[in-house]
Amino acid sequence: MAVRISNAPVTGARPGAVAVDNPATGAPITEVASTSPPQVKATVAAARKAQPRWQALGFRRRRALFRASQQWLLDNRARVLDSIVAENGKAREEAVIELVYCVNAFSFWSRRAAGYLAGKRIRSVSPFVLGRAMRTRRAPIGVVGVIGPWNNPLTNSFGDAIPALAAGNTVVLKPSEQTPLTALLMLEMARDCGYPDNVFQVVPGAGETGEALIDEVDFVMFTGSTRTGRRVAARAAERLIPSSLELGGKDALLVLADAPLERAVNVAVHGALFNGGQTCTSVERVYVEAPIYDRFVAAVGLRIDEIRSGAPRGLGSVDVGAMTFPPQLDTIDDHVRDAIDRGARVLAGGNRGAGPGRFYEPTVLVDVDHTMKCMREETFGPTLPIMKVRDAEEAIRLINDSEYGLQASIVTRDSRRGAKIAARLEAGAVTVNDTQSNYFALGLPMGGWKNSGLGVRHGAEGIRKYTRLQSISVNAHPMRRDLHMMPFSPKSYDAILRLVSFLYGRARRRP
Ligand code: NDP
Repeated sequence: MAVRISNAPVTGARPGAVAVDNPATGAPITEVASTSPPQVKATVAAARKAQPRWQALGFRRRRALFRASQQWLLDNRARVLDSIVAENGKAREEAVIELVYCVNAFSFWSRRAAGYLAGKRIRSVSPFVLGRAMRTRRAPIGVVGVIGPWNNPLTNSFGDAIPALAAGNTVVLKPSEQTPLTALLMLEMARDCGYPDNVFQVVPGAGETGEALIDEVDFVMFTGSTRTGRRVAARAAERLIPSSLELGGKDALLVLADAPLERAVNVAVHGALFNGGQTCTSVERVYVEAPIYDRFVAAVGLRIDEIRSGAPRGLGSVDVGAMTFPPQLDTIDDHVRDAIDRGARVLAGGNRGAGPGRFYEPTVLVDVDHTMKCMREETFGPTLPIMKVRDAEEAIRLINDSEYGLQASIVTRDSRRGAKIAARLEAGAVTVNDTQSNYFALGLPMGGWKNSGLGVRHGAEGIRKYTRLQSISVNAHPMRRDLHMMPFSPKSYDAILRLVSFLYGRARRRP
């Protein structure tokens, strides 16, 4: 695979290469060769060749490699954190969270994979299969292509490779062209830990590389925007290969009148600003019941003053880092301007931050309504629009009035009522008195409804999707001829009907 990584600063990418810069400083970091479609084809062919031996290693020996990977991540944490912070521009603490996720994921999937993928014995009382031993088994699907976004260069790309590998697949990862360096570092991890050749590979490049990958692999795990997700699904459907799509969101927070104020403010501010708001599960709109609205807004105003935004250095240096993807700044600003034009009031922020890096001020908008883009379209930036609602019923209606359905949150002292409201929200995940922490419960499935995706990551289904299901039925003591076989005879079919009447007919019904 043609990958060049160098530390020499460059000013622009050569043809066939992508330039990687530091969003927080604007300084070029390096350039990385793009993988052409023929190179993608050769890479997947090598992965396909390596897969049977990886599968044959079995869960136990794969687990040993996963343990080595965990240790590698911990031993090399400074390099991993430097890489994430440099190419993404996030606060170092947020990079730590990515690292912790992957360390945990290696442990979780290596312990759970065998159980989640164990075959099941199936029983049936059908007269046609009496005496058969029937079971299901799951086989790896082959080569999994993972396509990831730029917002979490480790978690949302490499993190999805871990269960795919645990299930016995080989993986080819296409990171976002904005942030390929951490994925490439994971190649080094795989080499150092002794993974067999071509079990895990990385194909840096832009959309064309992603398309070429879809054309070769057996399964596509995609995380990214809804717009690209539709194209990915359509391309995968052309080949009749399965795909799992983790897409955009417009996640709502509902603050009920009985909410503990401090908790509600922290959930709102952290949920909206974590990762600079560049998280699929960011709090993107807040609905507050009228009786607590004024106090909530005042408390958010005080908290936002404490938030530090800027170029990240060591731990504790900033809360909100840079905007990774240059065009994202225009989207954020467009949503803020649209809100202001339609009558919203800016409580804090509201402007692009000072350069040379790419920043947007943490922004709080009040007096917003549902005609505004900031309440309807994914902003993916550090904005917190707050809307007053009459009551929970109005909020539920507005929350569900969205094309997205990824995640939602509710803050209330009455956690039972919170859980009841959760069940009425059209979102794949709902948290009560929390924000985003559910993502770290790897046993808890996570996936979007509506335009937020298809399929899930995490939980049993988060690894079963990487397998093919096979049913095996064994007739260990076959008769010369079954009752139902040819040549048909009235006698045997009469016997079958009598048996079915006995099993399912009126005589079996309880009075
Ligand atoms: P994009 O959809 O722009 O890109 C995602 C990945 O797809 C990138 O690697 C991109 O490459 C690649 N790509 C682009 N075009 C194609 C194509 N035609 N075929 C195959 N691959 C292609 O998303 P972003 O990177 O902008 O990420 C932000 C989005 O991701 C947000 O909408 C966010 O909500 C969502 N997201 C969802 C999550 C979830 O779990 N639901 C988690 C995190 C983010 P390149 O970047 O090189 O162009």
